[in-house]
Amino acid sequence: KNGFDTTAVPNRVRVAVRLRPRNAEELVADVDFADCVEIQPELKRLKLRKNNWDCETYQFDEVLTETASQKRVYEVVAKPVVESVLEGYNGTVMAYGQTGTGKTFTLGKLGEEDCSDRGIMVRAMEDILADIKPGEDTVTVSYLQLYMESVQDLLAPERDNIAITEDPKTGDVSVPGATQVQLQDQSSFVRLLDVGEANRFAANTKLNTESSRSHAILLVQVKKTVRAKPGDRELIVLNENGNGSSQLVKGIRAPTIRRSKLLIVDLAGSERVDKSGLEGHTLEEAKSINLSLTALGKCINALAENSPHVPIRDSKLTRMLRDSFGGTARTSLVVTIGPSPQHRGETASTIMFGQRAM
Ligand code: ADP
Ligand code: MG
Repeated sequence: KNGFDTTAVPNRVRVAVRLRPRNAEELVADVDFADCVEIQPELKRLKLRKNNWDCETYQFDEVLTETASQKRVYEVVAKPVVESVLEGYNGTVMAYGQTGTGKTFTLGKLGEEDCSDRGIMVRAMEDILADIKPGEDTVTVSYLQLYMESVQDLLAPERDNIAITEDPKTGDVSVPGATQVQLQDQSSFVRLLDVGEANRFAANTKLNTESSRSHAILLVQVKKTVRAKPGDRELIVLNENGNGSSQLVKGIRAPTIRRSKLLIVDLAGSERVDKSGLEGHTLEEAKSINLSLTALGKCINALAENSPHVPIRDSKLTRMLRDSFGGTARTSLVVTIGPSPQHRGETASTIMFGQRAM
């Protein structure tokens, strides 16, 4: 179903590129210049202009032009992941790109005034809540910030430096020290995202940093009771008799509990920080962002190359993703870019990050 492969070959990361429209400033400043990229949606190709006569072409799983709606972006980038989470597999949706290119717009936009504007988090939760049975299944949410290799609870910001734990038997990664909210309805989810966003802003103001320097991670845990449906084949058990002979017994399949989780990650801005002028805290900050994004890039690359060694323990970010990345988990990356010819260099390196998965 939905092309999901559960064979031994781990799922590679699927990559979509999304170009945002020119903003008001760019419309004026770049009026005489062409966009730095050209998109060929039918071919799933993107051309990066090198100069007036030459360009480089890249192939992706999907390319989304500046006119792509939020609904379409959800359907292409996140819906297959959400569907497999509802089927019991873990999954991750991430946005990577330079600050100002639309990561938060793509993932976290609440769109309270204009429903068509709603981003992936809100749409994903709508599909999850529509699928689960109230009173029987549960959906639990945590909202975290990862800043300088430290996990902070965006729903209770006094909780900082929270441990990421891993079950030694099952390999399940969890963050038990973070607030876990059991959701009943969509409106409480939107309020929760709102509170998280306000806390993220406040925490960053206090630290005198920008939210673009941290990763925001929404962790959704789904617990479903799976019952045999009428028409499912009955369970046949081989009943051992005491005397060594055996007998076939028909029975009804007992309900089983199925747990899965979805991570939605709004990554720190990918822009290269020029470390030469930095010192003290700002230098440490730049290094730690670099550490987790570099570690993520290495893991994406290792999956694409089918390498037996995926260096998932190299950073807090990748440790958090450990059981929701590769293997049977389904991972989708949306790479966000802007059209401005002035940011051609950053756009090129963002595109190269996405290419590592292909
Ligand atoms: P980032 O999170 O990558 O720093 P934002 O999501 O905050 O970037 O986007 C920067 C600005 O551009 C915001 O004002 C946002 O509303 C606008 N924007 C981003 N992507 C789009 C888009 N696809 N269509 C319209 N506006 C967009
Ligand atoms: Mg943002």
